[in-house]
Amino acid sequence: MTSFWKMQQPDYITDHQEKSINGYVEHPYGLPGVECTDCGETWSSTKILPYKLPSNLNDISDLNTTGVVSDSRQIELQAAILEKLENYNGDRLLPGYEFQPVYLDIPSEPRADFLWASFASVLISDRIRDIFVENDINGVVFSPVYKRKIGKRKIKYPFKVSNESCNYSELIITSESKSPPGAEVISICERCGREDINDETRKLVMVPEMWCGDDIFFLKTTLWIIVTDKVKSLIESVNATNVYFEKL
Ligand SMILES: [Zn+2]
Repeated sequence: MTSFWKMQQPDYITDHQEKSINGYVEHPYGLPGVECTDCGETWSSTKILPYKLPSNLNDISDLNTTGVVSDSRQIELQAAILEKLENYNGDRLLPGYEFQPVYLDIPSEPRADFLWASFASVLISDRIRDIFVENDINGVVFSPVYKRKIGKRKIKYPFKVSNESCNYSELIITSESKSPPGAEVISICERCGREDINDETRKLVMVPEMWCGDDIFFLKTTLWIIVTDKVKSLIESVNATNVYFEKL
């Protein structure tokens, strides 16, 4: 039986070091948040989709903002996207979902194998992506990262990095585990899709019964990226940098 590992960023000495190594990621297009008249909540979820926003929707300003819209406007925007999005087989779209493309801004040429600059994904160097592809790692999709603003600063890494600048893909996690124990759904708002989970009873654990067979996946109800022994070994076999595994 495999073990499960939470894949995450290592500890950094300062916030400055963290930002210098990882940079900043932006997905310019996505659904705004919602102010819902039914449940009374103003909220937005965090999820990155491997789909490009259909280009004829790019000039809708509500899809290029981090703001909040009414529930009726939100429903209109979701319908407009679903109508144009080809091959979408995911669940209901929710407020806050982000689309491709993805841009990277970073103070110096990026050299680490993993860049932790997004809440709901991670950027991986081409060599890591190639290893995942060669080994048929499932549960994820790769999307090209556009390097936008690359600074000229020289930074001192706390680990050994490649001498060459890397190119990256966004590792978009499309799978999840079954619900962890105690994660009862208290309510679902039919109008905006908001799901309230009982945080007090939820246990943040990964037990074998929760596994759906994927190599990489989110622990359901969280943004924890979980990997199997197979993935951890592949990453460690090439001495990948800027990644840390915590046993669950
Ligand atoms: Zn609602």
